[in-house]
Amino acid sequence: MNNAATGRVAAIIPAAGSGVRLGAQIPKAFIELDGISLLTRSALAMSRVADVIIVAAPSDELELASQQLTNVDAEVHIVAGGQARQDSIANALAVLPDDVQFVLVHDAARPLVPVEVTNRVISELQNGAVAVIPVLPIADTIKRVDAQNNVIETVDRNQLRRVQTQQGFTRETLHHAYADPTVVATDDAGLMEVLGIPVLTVAGDELAMKVTTAHDLQIASALLGVKND
Ligand code: C5P
Repeated sequence: MNNAATGRVAAIIPAAGSGVRLGAQIPKAFIELDGISLLTRSALAMSRVADVIIVAAPSDELELASQQLTNVDAEVHIVAGGQARQDSIANALAVLPDDVQFVLVHDAARPLVPVEVTNRVISELQNGAVAVIPVLPIADTIKRVDAQNNVIETVDRNQLRRVQTQQGFTRETLHHAYADPTVVATDDAGLMEVLGIPVLTVAGDELAMKVTTAHDLQIASALLGVKND
């Protein structure tokens, strides 16, 4: 999609994780779900909205990553990932074309993200938000515990959210957040919080679940049957 009114949209896909928790012999992004890899599925999902896709792939698998993206309808760039997810995204940001206005950061490990989530994120960026993340409420009761596993307190779950990707940012905001490599967070919005940048939440979707363990892969496989976009 070329969004002439607002400049181009790019998607950065960190895909350089090892997949150790999945117990796989190959990097997680290349694991297949019904014959299509997590990376290809994630890239195809992003190509519905993004003009440019930058994949941070395992440094010894750049050729394989390239092969997996041949049918993706977007301007595709592949860079080597880094030690941590944040390093992989920094490497991808370094090749971001100048004419990109909005950047979506989407884990390769979330292959089933529905386009509705992507559209909600983009729509809020177009409305003027500088950082937007999809979230879901928490169904379980949440307790804080001490080092001895004793309960300290029950946390008010009404104020808590589970965070998914893709997380959307204006180009300037994401560059600003990644300017200082000593600022570390577990997600990109976490960098914004450290810097005092406002982050807006929109509704996520259970289909945007992250594949981390073999159990998650089974769930994702089952969810394929209910995905209809
Ligand atoms: O390990 P985790 O599941 O949290 O990783 C989230 C995403 O970040 C995955 O898509 C993974 O491939 C990616 N990643 C990366 N570079 C790393 C570690 C993880 O691109 N060094």
